[in-house]
Amino acid sequence: MRGDPEAHELIAPGNLAAVLQLLAAEPGAWTPIAGGTELMVAHAAGRLTARKLVSLWEIPDLRFIRVDEGTIAIGAGVPFIDLRRNAAIAAQLPLLARAASWLGSIANQSRATLGGNLVNGSPAADSSPALLAYDAQVELISARGRRTLPYEKFHTGYKRTALAPDELLLAVHLPRRFARHRQYLRKVGTRRAMAIAKVALAGTALVEENVVRELRLGAASVAPYPTRLYRTEEAILGNSITEETIRTARRALLAEIAPIDDIRSVAEYRRRVAANLVEEFLRELMHSAAPVDAPLMNAALAAWNSADESTALTQMLACCGARRWASAMVAMRPVQDQEALLAVADRIWAAMEEPDWREAFACHPRIGERKAAHASAPPSAQKSAQWSRQEQSGAAQAEARVLEELARGNAQYEERFGFTYIVCATGKSAEEMLDLLNRRLGSDRATELREAAEQQRQITEIRLRKWMAA
Ligand SMILES: Cc1cc2nc3c(=O)[nH]c(=O)nc-3n(C[C@H](O)[C@H](O)[C@H](O)COP(=O)(O)OP(=O)(O)OC[C@H]3O[C@@H](n4cnc5c(N)ncnc54)[C@H](O)[C@@H]3O)c2cc1C
Repeated sequence: MRGDPEAHELIAPGNLAAVLQLLAAEPGAWTPIAGGTELMVAHAAGRLTARKLVSLWEIPDLRFIRVDEGTIAIGAGVPFIDLRRNAAIAAQLPLLARAASWLGSIANQSRATLGGNLVNGSPAADSSPALLAYDAQVELISARGRRTLPYEKFHTGYKRTALAPDELLLAVHLPRRFARHRQYLRKVGTRRAMAIAKVALAGTALVEENVVRELRLGAASVAPYPTRLYRTEEAILGNSITEETIRTARRALLAEIAPIDDIRSVAEYRRRVAANLVEEFLRELMHSAAPVDAPLMNAALAAWNSADESTALTQMLACCGARRWASAMVAMRPVQDQEALLAVADRIWAAMEEPDWREAFACHPRIGERKAAHASAPPSAQKSAQWSRQEQSGAAQAEARVLEELARGNAQYEERFGFTYIVCATGKSAEEMLDLLNRRLGSDRATELREAAEQQRQITEIRLRKWMAA
């Protein structure tokens, strides 16, 4: 049954000090409401027991992302959409950017705050595994002062936290020291977005000479609250990654977690999936760990790692014309090897949005169009045009009839979707590209946009590989 608005009082003092005074005057009487995506659902269902609500929405002291020397601080009132869009987060905390992109729909992400996600304390909260893997600290505030504690100590039971009745979550602090760590995030749900996690795992690991020197594993939906997997970490730490280590890790994990049956899944499935995810992460580490005396790094990558910022940016822009993506790539330097670079490129791309995708699409000539880059175009555009010619060599040999049909199809596509038709052209004939164009013209815009973004991801990967091979 729907809640009765008359039964609730809502005030919005608009500044942090006034909210804290209110909480101090009547501890426990006032319930903070941030984006309201949890509380308003409870209200709609007639389950909202809180009578007095105090709004935190758009209080400037809670809504900031600050990059300090050693940390990135994120205000509790930052909505997920801002987490997705922030270049420093995309570059340095890519797991958090990716998790933010999974939460609900874009409409949800515009209201749902990081603080609300954590204080709500769902065992399946999307942001939690990444925060655990990044060793986050949470800062709490009340009229009595501030205190900081490790995020892993914040949840004290099912939907219970360390917050006192007069306290607010003020900010989350994340160390900026994971550039050399391998990073992993998987959410297993009915779908990746718009679905609550059946199980999720995030991991950061520092592997030297194939030995795991540092490791953090954060999991969702395997216990009453988001959990660090200490015992599993212990079973792996200090070992080289072998089949035996993987078996030991699986056993440790199964002994450590206690998932439950609920409407989304059953405990046994969750146990198996969690063990598979740990194994998947370890196998990724195994395949990316370089032997001790291997030549350190690809020459192009080594030069890029030490190049000045503008040169490094130009090289990335030739691979993908989205500026936010290219800047985030540059901020990730140094990158150790080809596989790490490709993984970082994918992670950052996954955190991009429509304006970034369209910026990248706009840098390609239309399929079948024979237009050279202008002599005065910047070096990144010259290089991109050269690669486009190679990629579209299939279209270069096309009959005039096919080229005319491609030109007509391109115009129709742009009219329908508002952006250029993008297809990973490498190895495809003009006829194949025309056939795909005609089929994709039948998609709805959202599906087509995602398809085009995936095609761009493939193009970027091919270009990064060529660039490293040069
Ligand atoms: C359609 C839909 C889909 C969703 N999908 C997902 C999903 O995929 N993944 C996921 O993790 N969640 C999902 N959610 C849940 C929800 O959107 C998130 O948990 C969100 O982050 C909550 O933030 P909020 O600001 O809206 O919280 P609110 O509803 O405003 O508050 C939630 C709780 O946090 C407390 N609170 C908020 N801010 C503070 C603060 N600074 N200090 C102290 N207490 C505070 C409130 O008192 C309340 O108890 C979904 C919700 C909906 C409605």
